[in-house]
Amino acid sequence: MIRLYNTLTRKIEDFKPIRKGRVGLYTCGPTVYNFAHIGNLRTYIFEDILRRTLEYSGYNVTHVMNITDVGHLTSDADAGEDKLEKGAKREGKTVWDIARFYTRAFLKDIRALNIKRAQNIVPATSAIREQIAVIKKLFAGGFAYETPEAVYFDVSKFRNYTKLSRQRLEEKKAGARAEVIEDPGKKHPQDFALWFKRVGKFKNHVMHWNSPWGDGFPGWHIECSAISTSRLGQPFDIHTGGVDHIAVHHTNEIAQSEGAFKKPLARFWMHGEFLLVADSKMAKSAGTFLTLQELEKKGFNPLAFRYLVLTSHYRSKLNFTWESLRAAEHSLERVRSFIKTLLSERKKPKHPVSLEKYRSQFDDALKSDLQTPQALSVLWKIISDYNTQSESFDAKKILALLYDFDQVLGLHFTAIKKDAIPETIRDMAMKREVARRNKDWDKADKFRAKIETAGFVIFDTPDGSKLRKKQ
Ligand SMILES: [Zn+2]
Repeated sequence: MIRLYNTLTRKIEDFKPIRKGRVGLYTCGPTVYNFAHIGNLRTYIFEDILRRTLEYSGYNVTHVMNITDVGHLTSDADAGEDKLEKGAKREGKTVWDIARFYTRAFLKDIRALNIKRAQNIVPATSAIREQIAVIKKLFAGGFAYETPEAVYFDVSKFRNYTKLSRQRLEEKKAGARAEVIEDPGKKHPQDFALWFKRVGKFKNHVMHWNSPWGDGFPGWHIECSAISTSRLGQPFDIHTGGVDHIAVHHTNEIAQSEGAFKKPLARFWMHGEFLLVADSKMAKSAGTFLTLQELEKKGFNPLAFRYLVLTSHYRSKLNFTWESLRAAEHSLERVRSFIKTLLSERKKPKHPVSLEKYRSQFDDALKSDLQTPQALSVLWKIISDYNTQSESFDAKKILALLYDFDQVLGLHFTAIKKDAIPETIRDMAMKREVARRNKDWDKADKFRAKIETAGFVIFDTPDGSKLRKKQ
């Protein structure tokens, strides 16, 4: 049984899918006006571990993700300008170019991090019809109203509006008041936009469509309600995102979808915690807004970042430092070299120890609300047990087990190849062995030095000497 923390109930609950053997998963996607930062990427890695754990446990997962390419204003509370238009001005391109460029950049990042792509990736601009349909339903149910500037969701009409965030509405009001309330026709400061009309400050908005409320474009939240319901049905099993989505975006999605369809949107709501850079929130001004490209520019393997993310539980804050990334890369390198050792191991013990306990510990860790740090510790236990008593382990079976674990960890274990050792090096190792047997230590040391200068390491084990390429 998989157990997952549900933000809705604030409890760890048994996960039972709505339809046997199948899981509907919706993960909020990026707003494609800039590169994703590593905090965003941490959330996508958490969601990938969730999906892979479900698949590892035998579920068939249908994963849907939106791409926000219109309607997300610079403030989540409907103030400011459209982020895509801001990006277009910044770079002197069209909004469509910006959307295309940063969608590609995002897909490249997730590929580098070995994050499985959702089967359905839906840009908001390709689901306008569905969004209009949901807004119509909200009008029919008395949840929406129109002003000369926009269409809004009336939060006073929806009971339990703050059930996900558990904030008091007054607290939200205080938060909303801090924003500039730009439309005098808005009934309550917490009301949020479903549709912006192409008037006033938006009269030159580049992306626009016809609707029953005039020419304009959708608000940010409605795309997720429309895309999730139309692709997964309602309710579906699991909806995820970053913790910063709880108070506004997900709260509004719930109000829209449940207002329109009179049933819950999703059973489980799961949220990934923040990533901090040197103990503080990432900020462009402080130079701590880091992208995957910047990590790669410094010579890091993207999978080292993935490994680093796995070392902390998704519900804990992760403090990123360059030292922690370096340590993660070092650990990953040690795992890789362990796999190389297994790949070149030829002997087979008569009575190898069973690996079942490791498998079940790994399984238990993931099924307990995705405890990736514990799952990694099982991996390290295997390495240390093997190193102390390699004669009782079947290397090929361990390898098979690690490949199996990698279905969830996603660290590309199966791509690791044995180091090729050239014939000349093998020959020198052989000659060194002969010298050693003859107790000609000087000669043996000379061969060792030659082997090392050539970039290889030779080390002696009870089963004879072994060669490996220098890391
Ligand atoms: Zn969303």
